[in-house]
Amino acid sequence: MDVRPFWLAGRPAMGEAELPVTNSHDGRVVGIASVPTGDQVEQAVAAAAAVRGRAAALPIHVRAEALAHVSRRIAERAEEFARLIMEENGKPLLWARGEVGRAVSTFRFAAEEARRFGGEVQRLDTDPAAQGRLAYISRVPYGPVLAITPFNFPLNLVAHKVAPAIAVGAPVVVKPAPATPLSALLLGELLAETGLPEGMFSVLPVPNDRAAALVEDPRLPVVSFTGSAPVGYAIADRVPRKRVTLELGGNAAAVVLADADLDHAASRVALFSNYQAGQSCIAVQRVIVEDAVYDAFVERLLPAVRALVTGDPADEKTQVGPMVSEEAAERVERWVADAVAAGARVLAGGGRSGATVEPTVLADVPRDALVYREEVFGPVMVLERVAGVDEAFAAVNDSAYGLQAGVFTRSLDIAFRANRELEVGGVIIGDVPSYRADQMPYGGVKDSGVGREGLRSAMADYTYEKVMVLTGL
Ligand code: NAD
Repeated sequence: MDVRPFWLAGRPAMGEAELPVTNSHDGRVVGIASVPTGDQVEQAVAAAAAVRGRAAALPIHVRAEALAHVSRRIAERAEEFARLIMEENGKPLLWARGEVGRAVSTFRFAAEEARRFGGEVQRLDTDPAAQGRLAYISRVPYGPVLAITPFNFPLNLVAHKVAPAIAVGAPVVVKPAPATPLSALLLGELLAETGLPEGMFSVLPVPNDRAAALVEDPRLPVVSFTGSAPVGYAIADRVPRKRVTLELGGNAAAVVLADADLDHAASRVALFSNYQAGQSCIAVQRVIVEDAVYDAFVERLLPAVRALVTGDPADEKTQVGPMVSEEAAERVERWVADAVAAGARVLAGGGRSGATVEPTVLADVPRDALVYREEVFGPVMVLERVAGVDEAFAAVNDSAYGLQAGVFTRSLDIAFRANRELEVGGVIIGDVPSYRADQMPYGGVKDSGVGREGLRSAMADYTYEKVMVLTGL
């Protein structure tokens, strides 16, 4: 099997060590990534630092055209990307294709935002003391971005960091997840076609201990991290003076109120608790249902969950595939067993075969159970019955996390109330918390992180406002 090169300052390179990548459905080795040596990592960082001034001065049309090129090329090679994601992550083709389509959009949105990234002029003569003066306000990149990404969206979450970096004229060093480096390496091929200056991007599949050294390197002043809360906060604590953005986990809630369309709510909750085997930071984990419709909702939900097609991710019909590894599936199985020992009832699923966990529905789960409190990151949902809206919103907020929440209601009043009261970065009315449009601001509060992604928001996070005052006008 060919070893895939990594990307060192825009060029393919081979290191001395190799990282085999396996498919969690059948244990096959599906690819091998070359791992850079310490010297090669040093060269990549030095090249990013050396090009930062030139990168920031790149004309906007050059940045925008490079981003548009990558978008077009991902679309042209979409099926190759989808199969690679499916192989390395175990994600069913259905979802892998969706992820590729989103990455096409992410780069296209970045190309559009790059063209709007021109700075602004502010007249200062609103105050007598500033009469005759004018401010020109531009946004300047802090410098090279270190992008650390998780396994669950091996292409689009890399895109969410690379695309805004290029859009603002910042070099970017990508450190992909060890379980899923192949999609990021393939993306490197398309970035290399753009003719961006040498050093503008590197993709370095290094192990975690060497990633920690990258975090501390002062030549990479921005760290954009997506992953779990403990790793993210440990990174932020190590480099308090850096610009760190953290996109972390959650235990997202869907609220089903008495006025909801129950058929719609049940089918969306069933699917988006289990899509990608629940391995999404906004997969539905807690389902909070108003008492008046609880029984009618559960009656619709359980058949919808049982009807999900579980199995081989390469099969076109599969909706729920394996988790990223058998160890991950065993952890979920343990958490379910703990909840059952504490009094929970299993209404559907509960079984495991290898890395695949059956879509599982639990009821009567105590609030201190791990499956309620922590991020389960598996195909498990917890049902909770509440008396009304007050209790429902209090339950949503009874969490250390706050990424997104979904509220199934037809009432505009309740929608605005949800927006006021729910302690989350995004409130999705009429749908699951798992909804994300890649151009909108996205991120959390509480332990779900700091900073925002979505192209315009990430571009703001990677840059600072700089003012030039013109005098004597
Ligand atoms: P993880 O925290 O284990 O790893 C994330 C990345 O950090 C990987 O690339 C890993 O190699 C790297 N890493 C680990 N230790 C490091 C260290 N000491 N120094 C530097 N880098 C280090 O997360 P994961 O298991 O890959 O992904 C799952 C997590 O990601 C879940 O918690 C999920 O909620 C979260 N996530 C969040 C979002 C979001 O946008 N909020 C999106 C997707 C996933």
